[in-house]
Amino acid sequence: MSSDLDAVFAPPAHDWVNRYAQLSESWRARLQAPMATTVNAQALPAPRWVAWSDPLAHELGWPADWREGELPLRVFSGNTLWPGMQPVATVYSGHQFGVWAGQLGDGRALLLGELQTAVGTREFQLKGAGSTPYSRRADGRAVLRSSIREFLCSEAMHALGIPTTRALALTASPQGVRRETMETAAVVTRVAPTFIRFGHFEHFAHSGEAGHHEVLQVLVDHVVEHHVPHLRDAPQRAVALLQYAVDSTARLMAAWQSVGFCHGVMNTDNMSILGLTIDYGPFGFLDGFDPQHICNHSDDRGRYAWQNQPQIGYWNLRALAQALVPVIPEFEGDENVIIDVLKSYEQRFPQAMTERWRAKLGLATEQESDGALAVDLLTVMAEHRTDFTIAFRRLCDYQSSLPPEDPANASVRDLFINREAFDAWARRYADRLKLENSEDAERRVRMRRVNPLYVLRNHLAETAIRLSQAGDDSEVRRLHQLLQTPYEEQPGCEADADFPPDWAQSIEVSCSS
Ligand code: AMP
Ligand code: MG
Repeated sequence: MSSDLDAVFAPPAHDWVNRYAQLSESWRARLQAPMATTVNAQALPAPRWVAWSDPLAHELGWPADWREGELPLRVFSGNTLWPGMQPVATVYSGHQFGVWAGQLGDGRALLLGELQTAVGTREFQLKGAGSTPYSRRADGRAVLRSSIREFLCSEAMHALGIPTTRALALTASPQGVRRETMETAAVVTRVAPTFIRFGHFEHFAHSGEAGHHEVLQVLVDHVVEHHVPHLRDAPQRAVALLQYAVDSTARLMAAWQSVGFCHGVMNTDNMSILGLTIDYGPFGFLDGFDPQHICNHSDDRGRYAWQNQPQIGYWNLRALAQALVPVIPEFEGDENVIIDVLKSYEQRFPQAMTERWRAKLGLATEQESDGALAVDLLTVMAEHRTDFTIAFRRLCDYQSSLPPEDPANASVRDLFINREAFDAWARRYADRLKLENSEDAERRVRMRRVNPLYVLRNHLAETAIRLSQAGDDSEVRRLHQLLQTPYEEQPGCEADADFPPDWAQSIEVSCSS
């Protein structure tokens, strides 16, 4: 380990235990029963680095040589601990596919602790480091395939400007892990201000065990004091926290929709209290635009289809609100305040969504009809299954002073089989742009900042996975690098921005991970 890193981690002045001691009572309570159980990682043989995020390490204030030596690899594969690290698994419950599932918990995630970093306190978590008291019948492992997807997408979402948990490291081992077929194990080191989920609150609200409502209050206080300190003096912290969750979830749903991201498993245990994207599983980015697209092969009813996500966000917020009722005593019997807070989602989401569409269309001012203009484009796109990412990117170059039929506009127009439908829409678009004296060149620059050229399409991840499974991690690293700057053209990467190949349609992504 380098001497600089020693300064970050070394005992006694900077060890994890001392860090705990400096933290609030509520944080320390979080590390103990009934919120958590101390548990050690299970060693994995012959670990290797698959990929890592130097940009994240840099943000955290870590030295450039943070991976140097044997120790970091051993720590980030769950084979050893830095001094003072005390791994715990936390308990939560949740609604899965709309049904109360009871106790779940960190079945394969270990919280290593919290560290002061250059960007504030951050929790560090290993995913796939072995079983915990909450593993139920599963093995506590994560396979390389799904770990590559989580690593790449966490960092890609961050680069897109979308709130998310981060991924610092991806390590792998030849150890076999049984899924539908035999695969191999991997560990993702995740980093976030907190990994607390709606499900943590639901657990202590609904477990029926004595003292759990007090724990619920501890959780509320912990999140507020530690992560949303501006709410500290709110007369009803739980109500204020609910409002915070409503606002941040509304913004998150709008952000997902705007890049065609489908989460795939929006169970309440996969919803971050801070409105971060969390738990990357069978997610997908839309290729051809189909609002009913279901990215999770296990979701046969399409509960989590792209177009349902905002509504499901609302459904999950209702579950959170219900969980908070026991710590909002004044409102027992009179739940109007809670209902008002919840109902604010009905304004916040459409507002956030319209803002996103406006930006994607390059509209600098606001008109009542902007939402309809966006929806009408989506309708034409849906009719033709127009590629979502490519259509918006090409629209950046739309020459609004020329008619839609002009050859200069062919690149976007040719994406639509029904040219008349596109032309009719494009004429409205041009009129709308004229209304604000929009200047094409300037608009293009603005639009290119919000309409990505590169997203983690399934087939890109799949290619990287296949190579990595054969021992070649270079494609994972290349994609990680590429997706750091998704809005900027990168020479030699034209194929990454192109339509998916035919074989992409046969990729099935399920909950198996
Ligand atoms: P997910 O839908 O992947 O977010 O997982 C739902 C629940 O199952 C969580 O409590 C996970 O910790 C747990 N889980 C998923 N996969 C495993 C595994 N391989 N071993 C242990 N627990 C798991
Ligand atoms: Mg989960």
